[in-house]
Amino acid sequence: MAKQINTEFDVIVIGGGPSGMIAAGRAGGRGLSVLLLEKNKSLGRKLVITGGGRCNITNAEFDIHKLLSNYGSSKQLLYSSFSEFGVIETHSFFQSLGLPLVTQARNRVFPNTEKAEDVLSALVLYMKNNNVLVKTGVSVNKLERNANGMFTVTSQKTTYVARAVVVATGGLSHSETGSTGDGFKWLSYLGHKIYPPTPSIVPVVVEDEWIKSLSGHSFEFAKITFYLDGVKVFSKSGPILCTHYGLSGPTILNSSKRVGDMLHEALVTASINCFPDWSVGELEKYMIQIFDNNKNKSLKNVFAEIAPKGMSKVLLSLLPALDPEQKTHSVTKEIRKEISKLLNALPVRITGLKGFDNAVIADGGVSLDEVDMRTMQSKLVPNLYLTGDILHIERPSGGFSLQLCWTTGFVAGSKVDPK
Ligand SMILES: Cc1cc2nc3c(=O)[nH]c(=O)nc-3n(C[C@H](O)[C@H](O)[C@H](O)COP(=O)(O)OP(=O)(O)OC[C@H]3O[C@@H](n4cnc5c(N)ncnc54)[C@H](O)[C@@H]3O)c2cc1C
Repeated sequence: MAKQINTEFDVIVIGGGPSGMIAAGRAGGRGLSVLLLEKNKSLGRKLVITGGGRCNITNAEFDIHKLLSNYGSSKQLLYSSFSEFGVIETHSFFQSLGLPLVTQARNRVFPNTEKAEDVLSALVLYMKNNNVLVKTGVSVNKLERNANGMFTVTSQKTTYVARAVVVATGGLSHSETGSTGDGFKWLSYLGHKIYPPTPSIVPVVVEDEWIKSLSGHSFEFAKITFYLDGVKVFSKSGPILCTHYGLSGPTILNSSKRVGDMLHEALVTASINCFPDWSVGELEKYMIQIFDNNKNKSLKNVFAEIAPKGMSKVLLSLLPALDPEQKTHSVTKEIRKEISKLLNALPVRITGLKGFDNAVIADGGVSLDEVDMRTMQSKLVPNLYLTGDILHIERPSGGFSLQLCWTTGFVAGSKVDPK
């Protein structure tokens, strides 16, 4: 059966994630005819799970130089686009759509309703206000540019034609949300170099049973130090979450890139310090005080006062010589020292990283050398624009990925100029 050819559009945006929706709305607001195609039945499936459903929408770092220092080697290339649409503009943009933003701990910014669904509704409203035609349930399987410079965008049933195309199909993380790397195939076919995607901002896998036994437990503020073949490489402090396979939480996610590199080199171990502000000696003094106040209690009954919640069983499993029934007044100096040392350096053996389905983003994507970062237009294919996770840009968690979507999407929508 012949494919139905639909009317021509100025711009087709492929992908209804955050970067595609803002790009489409902005281009529509400039009077261009815009079609957005999304393969899922609903828009923004990844967006609605961001920030645990609360959506860490940006980071409240208003100094552009400090903000860009979070984007690794891409920082200089991003200066122009972030000067045009940065953190301040993100605040005004959502405010103008009736969704003010609020800053919480560690500079993380959320919608004031703390609902990612509301961010999606704001973007849908933005596209509606700017006459974007949205088609969901349309999976694009081919993107080509013909001899007269027009793009044909083909799905199973229909071929759409446009003068310009924005590819906003995302990376490879959490593929159940629709980001299955389709864009990489078309872009590679059109001549772009794609850095192979690898999971990034991702939990780590450990072999230690004590961590798995604490699944769901969080160290509110701990310090983790990573070692390569026993030699210290780096440390990070903050909240750490234990899971049934290993460690997660912002401190771990933001260490995962370096840990991933280390895993390629040699044996990776770590130690978790539950009391990063105290030395072993200070911890021991504190323990003496607790034991003095509870002279006739057994060790197991005072653990709750010296170790973080849930740790008693762990200490007993890691120090098999400890007798939980022993009265505190008979605990020797040596044992006190051992407990203090352990709380300052709980041993961890790291065996790997979780995969794409647990990654916040996937590293890799289109090389920035091939994109005019002032406009987001491909340097290889005229009138082809690239936004969001499809680009090879390193960044930590904390709102930096979505800010990248707002910036690159808005700039692409502002600059797309189909002739
Ligand atoms: C669990 C989780 C939590 C996160 N939390 C945060 C956070 O709090 N803050 C933050 O800054 N970042 C967060 N991120 C990262 C953030 O979600 C991404 O950076 C962002 O969604 C990327 O947007 P995008 O528009 O580039 O692509 P995506 O959001 O991946 O959207 C791409 C869209 O394209 C569609 N598509 C793909 N192929 C086709 C095709 N062939 N035809 C038609 N449509 C297609 C997909 O279905 C999808 O809807 C989180 C990510 C995850 C996985």
